[in-house]
Amino acid sequence: MSECIFCRIVRGEIPCRKIYEDEDLLAFHDINPLAPVHFMVIPKRHVASLAETDASHAPVLGKLFSLLGELARGQGLADGFRTIVNTGRVGQQEVYHLHVHVVGGPDRLGPMLTRK
Ligand code: 5GP
Ligand code: ZN
Repeated sequence: MSECIFCRIVRGEIPCRKIYEDEDLLAFHDINPLAPVHFMVIPKRHVASLAETDASHAPVLGKLFSLLGELARGQGLADGFRTIVNTGRVGQQEVYHLHVHVVGGPDRLGPMLTRK
């Protein structure tokens, strides 16, 4: 059994505030939100990051991305949102189970990155 924290959430061993679930995907609120709405969508099948995906992941990732708008609208994000996928050391990924953050709220978000 994987000790990966998001695999444990998928198995129901760690509780989450679930938004959506089907046989391939799970969406739940981030425990430490960075915006008024902050949830993430994950493939249930473990893959560490976008650096590890291959063609076998394409169907589930296509399904995931095509669902984001509907899930975002369901959380009140009718005027847009931002998706973030942190990858690896440079992307400052913390949890090594691929996840797509969806953040938004009533106000415009800040800049995508701060210019150096
Ligand atoms: P990363 O930096 O890897 O892109 O983001 C990991 C995210 O997972 C963080 O925003 C963090 O707040 C969230 N997170 C970490 N542990 C848990 C948990 O046990 N439950 C939930 N719902 N979110 C978590
Ligand atoms: Zn995992």
